[in-house]
Amino acid sequence: MKHLIVYAHPHEGSFNHAILGTAVKALKEGGHEVIVRDLNKLGFNPVLSPADTAALREGNPPADIKTEQAYLEVADFITFIYPIWWTGLPAIIKGYVDRTFSYGFAYQYNSEGGIDKLFAGKKGIIINTYGTPGEIYESIGMNNSLKQTSGSGIFEFTGIEVVEQFLFGGVTSVATDEDRKEMLAQVAKKFSSL
Ligand code: FAD
Repeated sequence: MKHLIVYAHPHEGSFNHAILGTAVKALKEGGHEVIVRDLNKLGFNPVLSPADTAALREGNPPADIKTEQAYLEVADFITFIYPIWWTGLPAIIKGYVDRTFSYGFAYQYNSEGGIDKLFAGKKGIIINTYGTPGEIYESIGMNNSLKQTSGSGIFEFTGIEVVEQFLFGGVTSVATDEDRKEMLAQVAKKFSSL
């Protein structure tokens, strides 16, 4: 299976980087093809500009969008790995979605007033970490909001079936080393099962 992992964290030694490494290792051991797009390393430009919108309307995306869309197009399985920043996606990966999940490529309106989900047939996983203890985000409904805005609002909106969305809470507060090892073990188990 062709796996695309879109990764957004600025620090090489981060816990998110350990999650990335765990997922890649499990997939490679399972004989999958894995492409990682590390948006910070790529210096990906996240701003959907007036020039971009004009070019996309003409069906002629700029080179950096075209490159990313080529990876998205051939992927059977798309994984996003990022920390929660301000209860959402870090700007660099939000901008990746703004620019590459474009109209006519990821979705389009149809004559019945519905939406054609142009990524139908693909599957995906989203892995998020955040600092607030998980029970707090669960009790105030934030976990559900995070799932709605990314799992439903981005993946399912474009037809990507969400196999799992991991929400690892408290990673910088209440989680112990043991807890974080257990989180990595959950990631390894899931990616080994694909
Ligand atoms: P790191 O800080 O890299 O690591 C966390 C811990 O894991 C450290 O103790 C580290 O030593 C340990 N660790 C590293 N590698 C391993 C390993 N291999 N095995 C075991 N342990 C390891 N949080 C919220 O709850 N809500 C918000 O809205 C929110 N907004 C934010 C906005 C900004 C701009 C920023 C910078 C942070 C925000 N946060 C928020 C917190 C953020 O979500 C967390 O800092 C982030 O999820 C932690 O992930 P990390 O990869 O950066 O962890």
